Amino acid sequence: METAKCLIIGSGPAGYTAAIYASRANLAPILYEGTQPGGQLTITTEIENFPGYPDGIDGFEMMDQLRRQAKRFGTDIRQGMITSIDLSKRPFIATIDDGAAIIAADSVIIATGASARYLGLDDETRFRGRGVSACATCDGFFYRGKTVAVVGGGDTACEEATYLSNLAAKVYMIVRKDHLRASKVMQERVFGTPNIEVLFNTNTVGLFGTDGVEGAHLVRHKGTPQEEPLDIAIDGFFLAIGHKPNTEFLNGQVELDNAGYIVTRDGSQATSVDGVFAAGDVADPVYRQAITAAGMGCKAALDVEKFLLANGH
Ligand SMILES: Cc1cc2nc3c(=O)[nH]c(=O)nc-3n(C[C@H](O)[C@H](O)[C@H](O)COP(=O)(O)OP(=O)(O)OC[C@H]3O[C@@H](n4cnc5c(N)ncnc54)[C@H](O)[C@@H]3O)c2cc1C
Repeated sequence: METAKCLIIGSGPAGYTAAIYASRANLAPILYEGTQPGGQLTITTEIENFPGYPDGIDGFEMMDQLRRQAKRFGTDIRQGMITSIDLSKRPFIATIDDGAAIIAADSVIIATGASARYLGLDDETRFRGRGVSACATCDGFFYRGKTVAVVGGGDTACEEATYLSNLAAKVYMIVRKDHLRASKVMQERVFGTPNIEVLFNTNTVGLFGTDGVEGAHLVRHKGTPQEEPLDIAIDGFFLAIGHKPNTEFLNGQVELDNAGYIVTRDGSQATSVDGVFAAGDVADPVYRQAITAAGMGCKAALDVEKFLLANGH
């Protein structure tokens, strides 16, 4: 069976940064890219907030640069998904693509990201990157002085709406229920912001526009006698209905928090299993940025180095 000192799962900013550090520390890491080589940033166009690119950079190009940097120091980058892994004893046994390959690894870095939840409308795919976004911090700047809508009624949606209200001229919050689920303090902030309008009892059924989003088709009081259609003009449509950390393949072997994110310990990237580390969005319910993911990837690789030394490798 093939062996690895360090197996890195995922090829976003966290995975590649871990790979750069681990390969420069002579750990000869093997990295599996998964079904989205380069991670989430490959589906966006301009990245303006990653330090070191004063003129911004195309997401795909930036990830290609990280990949080349990891390869330069000897990371073995491979196509394939880790479909299951046995973490009950060391070395850990990882199965790739349902049995196409098996690797015994002394340490593992999980950097599999988190996927934003979408409503499931065809128009979301049609306009993704052209008015549809799941990240206000990332894309809000493009909507300065414009009108946007935020979908969701929880804390995240309120935070995104408040953040966007400082940039956009007008922010609609589209809320399915007749109340916000968010904490009282977040609700007060939303209701106290003059350019946020909350549309309760409202569902989004479609988006319209030619080259990008120009508006949303909504239905108020869906499924009741008061049901009525409503179209609003918007330039941006922001989803804030949660994220799903990509942890299915772990099959419950690593401690997760209530929202499904991997729990890390003591300010490090260590998980509940000795020798298994987590980095990036999969372990981050709060920040979910490329730079924070990269930072955690660095920490995870340094943690692995220390772990392997302490365990006689
Ligand atoms: C549209 C959009 C725009 C964004 N814009 C910005 C921005 O401007 N600035 C910013 O800082 N952040 C931005 N973000 C957020 C940023 O993309 C994420 O915070 C960052 O990509 C997280 O990095 P990560 O390495 O944790 O995971 P990801 O980038 O999500 O990568 C996860 C990786 O894991 C792989 N994977 C998953 N499961 C498996 C498995 N079982 N086996 C093997 N591989 C697996 C995937 O193929 C992928 O390569 C944006 C996000 C989106 C969706």
